[in-house]
Amino acid sequence: MQKEDNLKDIISHAKEYGFVFPSSEIYDGLSATYDYGQLGVELKNNIKSYWWKSMVQMNENIVGLDSAIFMHPKTWKASGHVDAFNDPLIDNKDSKKRYRADVLLEEYIEKIRAKIDKDVNKGIKRFGDDFDKNQFLATNPNVLRNMAKIEDVEERMKDTLGKDDLEGVYNLIIDLEIVCPVSGTKNWTEVRQFNLMFSTELGSVSGDAATIYLRPETAQGIFVNFLNVQKTGRMKIPFGIAQIGKAFRNEIVARQFIFRMREFEQMEMQFFVRPGEEMKWYEHWKNQRIAWHSKLGLGEENYRFHDHIKLAHYANAAADIEFNFPMGFKELEGVHSRTDFDLKQHEEHSGKKLQFFDPEMNQNYVPYVVETSIGLDRMFLAVLSSSFKTEKLENDSERVVLSLPAALAPFKVAVMPLTKKDGHPEKAREIMNALRLEHNCAYDEKDSPGKRYRRQDAIGTPYCVMVDHQTMEDNTVTIRDRDTMEQDRVSIDELASIIESKVSMTNLLR
Ligand code: ATP
Repeated sequence: MQKEDNLKDIISHAKEYGFVFPSSEIYDGLSATYDYGQLGVELKNNIKSYWWKSMVQMNENIVGLDSAIFMHPKTWKASGHVDAFNDPLIDNKDSKKRYRADVLLEEYIEKIRAKIDKDVNKGIKRFGDDFDKNQFLATNPNVLRNMAKIEDVEERMKDTLGKDDLEGVYNLIIDLEIVCPVSGTKNWTEVRQFNLMFSTELGSVSGDAATIYLRPETAQGIFVNFLNVQKTGRMKIPFGIAQIGKAFRNEIVARQFIFRMREFEQMEMQFFVRPGEEMKWYEHWKNQRIAWHSKLGLGEENYRFHDHIKLAHYANAAADIEFNFPMGFKELEGVHSRTDFDLKQHEEHSGKKLQFFDPEMNQNYVPYVVETSIGLDRMFLAVLSSSFKTEKLENDSERVVLSLPAALAPFKVAVMPLTKKDGHPEKAREIMNALRLEHNCAYDEKDSPGKRYRRQDAIGTPYCVMVDHQTMEDNTVTIRDRDTMEQDRVSIDELASIIESKVSMTNLLR
């Protein structure tokens, strides 16, 4: 199946089963805005819970926060967002489509990378086990030429984007003969900066002071509360503050489903450290975060690190964790070393000291910050897209299955009576009422067992429990595993502990 087709299938599956709906759909939707349905909200909450527990519950020196979306307008002047939170945009005059200039260049590089991968795959096919990939990459003339091309483009991107040299960015697009994917022409406008913040007005004030912004990141709510939390929580450096919340960006191009939205949710953690120790912590958090992802079992090969070509105005090191989405490898999470930029800026603009007295050093300083920032919606898409499978079964039929990590699944178990008589429904409800004290459960008695199993497979329910004639005789039920489709007969008394051992989030946190 083509990857882009795969995305279309995922979008329609997500809608059909109540995971994600286009926002205000009865009015034909609003671009790049989505609503999470009855199952989507469960999956989303479980992802949040996995993140929150890993950060706050499992780390003595990390605490949580829930700051307001509206902040004093000076916050965004201080943080640099008013002046520098821009994306370079370019329009194609023929198609009238708008693009991010940096994304056009990144996609150009991606295409060359794909050529290298193609050459490698050809080699593997031809030489099988004898194929030495490293040697091939180091010596094949085609590969070397393409690698040099990538290096050259990256160098020129760094040079132009890094200095906000918009004419240079335009020239690079022209030199590389990049065409508009829609019109196929090179008829481009000049490159312009576009600020991504949404603004609105405060009701009680008039004039310029009334303009406030919808936060484009949750991080600033953490910085302005640094001292409140440090003092009231008696936190010692190094320590972190974690927050989950909405962020808003007026994205130039917002396609690709919930990957890029104008209203989205972030899970961010700012870790405050001694100046000079930030690189150690930067490496630490890169390792911690990739381990967090790995435990979900979505496939090691689906992740890669990508160092930033253009560092943001506040960073001295930054890497993305990229995930292999249906559209290819794209940013899922950022780990950034933000230096003391934010706290220093807020000191300057607020006139308040934002420092820590380090008793071991007997010294006051503005801490340095290492940030981990992941988009909850992108994480949702990563989980959903890598779990979505169509399997051929032995009898030549097909089943659609969401092999979600069990701890994240919306329902952990579905309880079903084999028939609607002989006391089966009553027994099934009795079992469900006991299990639902711990887990989100579904009850399903409509249609044949086969159809009911398929329905639960399609929404990722890890276990189905069936009450049948034997249940009424010996207090046992069958429990069916979503992935293997195997059924075991177990005593009802053992059910809770069997399910708990398989779906518990403890398995991920340990
Ligand atoms: P991109 O380069 O894709 O625009 P970014 O580098 O601007 O992303 P950050 O500012 O580092 O993103 O934001 C941290 C995280 O927030 C990202 O890794 C991503 O998961 C998420 N995120 C950012 N913008 C969006 C968006 N428009 N929609 C959904 N998630 C987003």
